[in-house]
Amino acid sequence: MDLTELKPCEICKGKITPVFYVFELDTLLLDQQAANQFLGLNHFFQGHTALADIFTPTREIANSLGKEKMLICQKCMMHKLSDFYSVFQFAKSENENPS
Ligand SMILES: [Zn+2]
Repeated sequence: MDLTELKPCEICKGKITPVFYVFELDTLLLDQQAANQFLGLNHFFQGHTALADIFTPTREIANSLGKEKMLICQKCMMHKLSDFYSVFQFAKSENENPS
C-alpha cells in the first residue's frame, strides 16, 4: 500500500492503528448473455466445462460498476464489525483446515 492511500478509519474517522484492515468492494454486473452462452455450451458438451470454456466467445461474464476501498482500524473491526470479523476468521480457519 502506498503512503498516499493512507486515510482515517472509514467508521470512526480516527487514526488507523498499526494494524488495520482494507476492504475492497467491487460491484459487478453479470453479463447475462455471456453467462448463458457458457452455460448453454456446458450443457451441449454434457458438463465438460473445459470444452465449453474453449468454445465460449468471451471469458468475461461480469463487468465492474466501480470499486471502493475502505480502511478500517483494528478497534472498529473488533468492536463494530465483530460479527463480520468472526465470520471471516471462521472461513479462514475452514479454508486452512477443511473438515
Ligand atoms: Zn475506526
